[in-house]
Amino acid sequence: MASKFCPRCGTAMGSRQEGGRERPVCPGCGYVHFGEFSIGVGGVVLREDKALLIRRGQEPYKGWWQIPGGYAERDELIEQAVEREVWEESGVRAKARRVLGLRNMVGDSSTNVYVIFALELLEGEAHQDSVESVEAGFFSLAELETMEQVQNLSKWAIRAAQHGDGGFVRVSEMNLTRPGYLLYGVDK
Ligand SMILES: [Zn+2]
Repeated sequence: MASKFCPRCGTAMGSRQEGGRERPVCPGCGYVHFGEFSIGVGGVVLREDKALLIRRGQEPYKGWWQIPGGYAERDELIEQAVEREVWEESGVRAKARRVLGLRNMVGDSSTNVYVIFALELLEGEAHQDSVESVEAGFFSLAELETMEQVQNLSKWAIRAAQHGDGGFVRVSEMNLTRPGYLLYGVDK
Protein backbone atom coordinates (compact mmCIF):
# COMPACT_ATOMS: atom_id res chain seq x y z
CA MET A 1 0.00 0.00 0.00
CA ALA A 2 1.21 3.45 -0.85
CA SER A 3 1.63 5.59 2.25
CA LYS A 4 -0.10 8.97 2.58
CA PHE A 5 3.27 10.45 3.45
CA CYS A 6 6.54 10.36 1.57
CA PRO A 7 8.83 7.60 2.91
CA ARG A 8 11.85 9.77 2.14
CA CYS A 9 10.94 13.22 3.49
CA GLY A 10 7.56 12.87 5.24
CA THR A 11 5.66 15.35 3.02
CA ALA A 12 2.04 14.48 2.22
CA MET A 13 2.02 12.63 -1.10
CA GLY A 14 0.26 14.06 -4.15
CA SER A 15 -0.22 12.40 -7.49
CA ARG A 16 0.62 13.00 -11.11
CA GLN A 17 0.84 11.33 -14.50
CA GLU A 18 4.21 9.61 -14.62
CA GLY A 19 5.18 7.05 -17.25
CA GLY A 20 1.63 6.66 -18.52
CA ARG A 21 -0.09 6.12 -15.16
CA GLU A 22 -1.41 8.26 -12.35
CA ARG A 23 1.05 7.65 -9.50
CA PRO A 24 1.69 8.87 -5.96
CA VAL A 25 4.37 11.56 -6.18
CA CYS A 26 5.95 13.62 -3.40
CA PRO A 27 5.70 17.37 -4.06
CA GLY A 28 8.56 17.91 -1.59
CA CYS A 29 11.38 15.76 -2.92
CA GLY A 30 10.01 14.34 -6.16
CA TYR A 31 9.89 10.72 -4.97
CA VAL A 32 7.63 8.60 -7.22
CA HIS A 33 5.98 5.52 -5.75
CA PHE A 34 6.09 2.89 -8.52
CA GLY A 35 4.66 0.13 -6.35
CA GLU A 36 5.76 -2.68 -4.09
CA PHE A 37 8.50 -4.90 -5.45
CA SER A 38 10.57 -7.60 -3.80
CA ILE A 39 13.45 -9.82 -4.86
CA GLY A 40 13.79 -13.38 -3.62
CA VAL A 41 16.78 -15.66 -4.04
CA GLY A 42 17.22 -19.42 -3.77
CA GLY A 43 20.37 -21.50 -4.11
CA VAL A 44 21.24 -25.03 -5.19
CA VAL A 45 24.39 -26.30 -3.46
CA LEU A 46 25.54 -29.69 -4.70
CA ARG A 47 27.88 -32.08 -2.90
CA GLU A 48 28.59 -34.90 -5.33
CA ASP A 49 25.14 -36.27 -6.27
CA LYS A 50 23.33 -34.65 -3.34
CA ALA A 51 21.79 -31.21 -2.91
CA LEU A 52 21.42 -29.01 0.15
CA LEU A 53 17.86 -28.72 1.44
CA ILE A 54 16.36 -27.05 4.46
CA ARG A 55 13.05 -27.71 6.14
CA ARG A 56 11.06 -24.53 6.66
CA GLY A 57 10.52 -23.49 10.27
CA GLN A 58 8.14 -20.64 9.42
CA GLU A 59 4.91 -20.11 7.55
CA PRO A 60 4.07 -20.16 4.73
CA TYR A 61 4.81 -23.82 3.92
CA LYS A 62 6.12 -24.55 7.42
CA GLY A 63 7.52 -28.10 7.46
CA TRP A 64 8.22 -28.20 3.72
CA TRP A 65 11.65 -29.00 2.30
CA GLN A 66 13.22 -26.59 -0.17
CA ILE A 67 16.52 -25.16 -1.31
CA PRO A 68 17.74 -22.42 1.07
CA GLY A 69 16.84 -18.85 0.21
CA GLY A 70 15.02 -15.70 1.21
CA TYR A 71 14.66 -12.04 0.38
CA ALA A 72 17.41 -9.74 -0.81
CA GLU A 73 17.97 -6.70 1.38
CA ARG A 74 17.74 -3.30 -0.29
CA ASP A 75 21.49 -2.73 0.11
CA GLU A 76 22.90 -6.05 -1.04
CA LEU A 77 23.55 -7.64 -4.42
CA ILE A 78 21.51 -10.74 -5.20
CA GLU A 79 24.52 -13.04 -5.12
CA GLN A 80 25.45 -11.70 -1.69
CA ALA A 81 21.86 -12.34 -0.65
CA VAL A 82 21.84 -15.97 -1.75
CA GLU A 83 25.24 -16.67 -0.17
CA ARG A 84 24.03 -15.09 3.09
CA GLU A 85 20.75 -17.00 3.09
CA VAL A 86 22.50 -20.32 2.46
CA TRP A 87 24.87 -19.59 5.34
CA GLU A 88 22.13 -18.43 7.72
CA GLU A 89 19.77 -21.31 7.04
CA SER A 90 22.27 -24.17 6.80
CA GLY A 91 25.71 -23.16 8.09
CA VAL A 92 27.21 -23.92 4.67
CA ARG A 93 29.57 -21.50 2.94
CA ALA A 94 29.02 -21.45 -0.81
CA LYS A 95 29.85 -19.14 -3.74
CA ALA A 96 27.25 -18.09 -6.31
CA ARG A 97 28.37 -19.27 -9.75
CA ARG A 98 25.44 -19.11 -12.20
CA VAL A 99 21.77 -18.27 -12.50
CA LEU A 100 19.59 -21.26 -13.31
CA GLY A 101 16.26 -19.51 -13.64
CA LEU A 102 13.91 -16.69 -12.71
CA ARG A 103 10.38 -16.88 -11.39
CA ASN A 104 8.25 -13.78 -11.73
CA MET A 105 5.00 -13.32 -9.85
CA VAL A 106 2.54 -10.44 -9.94
CA GLY A 107 0.31 -10.45 -6.89
CA ASP A 108 -2.59 -8.30 -5.77
CA SER A 109 -0.42 -5.70 -4.09
CA SER A 110 3.14 -6.45 -5.16
CA THR A 111 5.38 -8.08 -7.70
CA ASN A 112 8.24 -10.45 -6.97
CA VAL A 113 11.22 -11.81 -8.87
CA TYR A 114 12.82 -14.96 -7.45
CA VAL A 115 16.31 -15.68 -8.78
CA ILE A 116 17.57 -19.25 -8.56
CA PHE A 117 21.34 -19.71 -8.36
CA ALA A 118 23.72 -22.64 -8.53
CA LEU A 119 26.41 -22.24 -5.90
CA GLU A 120 29.76 -23.91 -5.41
CA LEU A 121 30.20 -25.55 -2.00
CA LEU A 122 33.13 -24.07 -0.10
CA GLU A 123 32.92 -25.46 3.44
CA GLY A 124 30.68 -26.35 6.32
CA GLU A 125 28.46 -29.15 7.51
CA ALA A 126 24.75 -28.60 7.06
CA HIS A 127 22.84 -27.77 10.22
CA GLN A 128 19.59 -25.96 10.88
CA ASP A 129 19.38 -22.44 12.33
CA SER A 130 16.29 -23.48 14.35
CA VAL A 131 14.23 -20.45 13.27
CA GLU A 132 13.98 -20.19 9.50
CA SER A 133 15.04 -23.83 9.11
CA VAL A 134 14.33 -26.70 11.51
CA GLU A 135 16.36 -29.30 9.59
CA ALA A 136 19.07 -29.13 6.95
CA GLY A 137 21.06 -31.68 5.03
CA PHE A 138 22.27 -33.04 1.70
CA PHE A 139 19.90 -35.34 -0.16
CA SER A 140 19.92 -37.15 -3.50
CA LEU A 141 17.01 -36.81 -5.93
CA ALA A 142 16.19 -40.47 -5.21
CA GLU A 143 15.93 -39.63 -1.51
CA LEU A 144 13.77 -36.59 -2.30
CA GLU A 145 11.30 -38.83 -4.11
CA THR A 146 10.72 -40.74 -0.87
CA MET A 147 10.18 -37.56 1.20
CA GLU A 148 6.87 -35.78 1.57
CA GLN A 149 6.40 -32.02 1.34
CA VAL A 150 9.27 -31.25 -1.02
CA GLN A 151 8.82 -28.07 -3.06
CA ASN A 152 8.55 -28.90 -6.77
CA LEU A 153 10.47 -25.79 -7.79
CA SER A 154 13.41 -26.98 -5.67
CA LYS A 155 13.42 -30.36 -7.42
CA TRP A 156 13.39 -28.58 -10.77
CA ALA A 157 16.30 -26.36 -9.70
CA ILE A 158 18.37 -29.31 -8.45
CA ARG A 159 17.87 -31.15 -11.74
CA ALA A 160 18.84 -28.00 -13.64
CA ALA A 161 22.02 -27.64 -11.57
CA GLN A 162 22.95 -31.29 -12.05
CA HIS A 163 22.31 -31.17 -15.78
CA GLY A 164 25.37 -29.62 -17.37
CA ASP A 165 26.68 -26.12 -16.75
CA GLY A 166 24.06 -23.96 -18.51
CA GLY A 167 22.64 -20.72 -17.20
CA PHE A 168 23.67 -17.11 -16.85
CA VAL A 169 27.15 -16.42 -15.55
CA ARG A 170 28.82 -13.32 -14.18
CA VAL A 171 29.97 -10.94 -16.92
CA SER A 172 32.93 -8.92 -15.74
CA GLU A 173 33.95 -6.93 -18.81
CA MET A 174 34.68 -3.51 -17.38
CA ASN A 175 33.14 -1.58 -20.26
CA LEU A 176 29.79 -3.20 -19.47
CA THR A 177 29.74 -2.89 -15.71
CA ARG A 178 30.79 -0.38 -13.11
CA PRO A 179 31.81 -0.91 -9.49
CA GLY A 180 28.70 -1.97 -7.60
CA TYR A 181 26.98 -3.32 -10.70
CA LEU A 182 26.32 -6.99 -11.24
CA LEU A 183 25.71 -8.35 -14.73
CA TYR A 184 24.74 -11.93 -15.51
CA GLY A 185 24.44 -13.17 -19.07
CA VAL A 186 24.83 -16.13 -21.37
CA ASP A 187 28.32 -17.60 -21.46
CA LYS A 188 29.85 -17.02 -24.88
ZN1 LIG B 1 9.44 13.36 -0.36
